Amino acid sequence: MTVIVSSPNTATQNGAVKVPTVNAFDADLPAEPAVEFIKPISSASYTATHPEQFEVVFSESAEPGVEAFSSKLVAKHDYAPGELLATLSNASQAPVKAYSSVQYGPGPDHHLELNSDLLFMNHSCAPTAQLQLPAGTPARWEVHVGPAGLAKGEDITFFYPSTEWDMAQGFDCNCGAKTCLGNVQGAKYLTLEQLEARGVVNDHIRALKAQQ
Ligand SMILES: [Zn+2]
Repeated sequence: MTVIVSSPNTATQNGAVKVPTVNAFDADLPAEPAVEFIKPISSASYTATHPEQFEVVFSESAEPGVEAFSSKLVAKHDYAPGELLATLSNASQAPVKAYSSVQYGPGPDHHLELNSDLLFMNHSCAPTAQLQLPAGTPARWEVHVGPAGLAKGEDITFFYPSTEWDMAQGFDCNCGAKTCLGNVQGAKYLTLEQLEARGVVNDHIRALKAQQ
């Protein structure tokens, strides 16, 4: 399957880029998730939120009760390229930008909490999945399998700068991809070409990039 990544901000004839207003990204997200979600920190306290689709694999921490940071999300079966993995139906408004939040618009308050096992999607510079957050339409916010498809047991990852402009916590990346960026701090620090080479670039990232 060919995945065509198109820019929603169509260039006009004089070359200027039309940038949506910040309000176009506002979303009426609930303050609390529809279904309560308490982040599990080990397999002992874990119940899958999407048992048919994927599951969290915990790497047990040496210290009981302390979260291990190498936990990951893996596919429960094979997926075709572009297939829907999950909708963001349990998302809530994030009170603050945090390591766990996902950015859905260019404004300072445009951050959501996933409130599901999707929280365990790690970053990769060659991701297997793509988070798609069309502006201002939470009903269409979805995670899709990337163009290479996904095999049962494979890690479900996404490219964090596809949603994050300037991350709360940057990090040194060990994703192992040939195209690894080494250090990941958000889209603000990358070129549009670097972003587009790694899959979907969300509307708000394009809008912020156009203004930069
Ligand atoms: Zn990397």
